[in-house]
Amino acid sequence: MSRVNLYSDTQTRPTAAMRRAIAEAPVGDEQRGEDPSVNALCERVAALLGHEAALFLPSGTMCNEIAIAVHCRPGDEVLADVTSHLIHFEAGAPSALAGVLIGTLPGRRGVFTAADVDAATRALTRHSPRQRLVSIENTANLGGGTVWPLAGVQEVAAAARRRGLAVHMDGARLMNAVVASGTAAADYGRVCDSVWIDLTKGLGCPVGAVLAGNRDFIEEAWRLKHRWGGAMRQAGIVAAAGLHALDHHVDRLAEDHENARRLADGLADLPGLMIDRAAVETNMVYIDVAGTGRSAADIVAALGERDIVMGALGPTSIRAVTHLDVDRAGIERAIAAFAAVLGH
Ligand SMILES: *Cc1c(COP(=O)(O)O)cnc(C)c1O
Repeated sequence: MSRVNLYSDTQTRPTAAMRRAIAEAPVGDEQRGEDPSVNALCERVAALLGHEAALFLPSGTMCNEIAIAVHCRPGDEVLADVTSHLIHFEAGAPSALAGVLIGTLPGRRGVFTAADVDAATRALTRHSPRQRLVSIENTANLGGGTVWPLAGVQEVAAAARRRGLAVHMDGARLMNAVVASGTAAADYGRVCDSVWIDLTKGLGCPVGAVLAGNRDFIEEAWRLKHRWGGAMRQAGIVAAAGLHALDHHVDRLAEDHENARRLADGLADLPGLMIDRAAVETNMVYIDVAGTGRSAADIVAALGERDIVMGALGPTSIRAVTHLDVDRAGIERAIAAFAAVLGH
């Protein structure tokens, strides 16, 4: 039996149909604006996200970092939830590349409010950093795959703009939020000055992410893409996967969400495991194993011996992420293996 890899939704392999789309992609010189597949992908994502223009980039990290550097100047402050990816998993890039500092907001499961933004904004004096940007992560990864309600995004954006701050959305898993909430991507996107989607998470592509904004923003973003070595040549080879994913891998995210709920329900019945089932809104399940008396690392290793892969995110916290390479049978195997590892 094959491995059930729930480590992350980045673990997907391109499907046979996606590989065919890649093989047949029309291509050109991307950095001269001559790659038809990249151009088609950018036009499509710009429209999807309710913006004038978009830019194809190698990674979601580069989307976040370019957006921060376009919105801010060195010494400026970005407000972001304390759990956000750009704080914990981007190798210090906001400070190293854009020279900004991050002011943390105390959200609930990665979702903060206009009141949190108000409480964090400062009077501008010659002593204070200039605050420029609020970043919203939708879905919130360390928050548990939490979906931002559109009204929450609108209220935060209004609070930000009252203070002259721009609004950025880290939409690595925005399409999960769209499928789970029924809110259109463009409705989320239009509220933000910049917004991006990752192609390599639930959408199942091997490489790439797309950043959207107005024409001036994207023009500046192009300059940084080039400066940081992200401009490419026949990148249609990878952009074609993105176009294929937008056609075939969006609606199916609902299956990942159902599988995550099934996994949470199956594991919640096991003694010693604590799962906040109401918090399973999309494709992530966070499992607290403190009640088993064993460490997360120990349990993850034992699961690995049974060909079930999950990630230890803390001393007693395990994360499982569903995606298109894990079907319902794989979920049932993961539940059975977890029970066996715990001796039930
Ligand atoms: C994965 C992720 C990123 C970074 O995307 P990469 O494509 O891995 O560089 C940024 N934000 C969030 C919330 C993510 O989950």
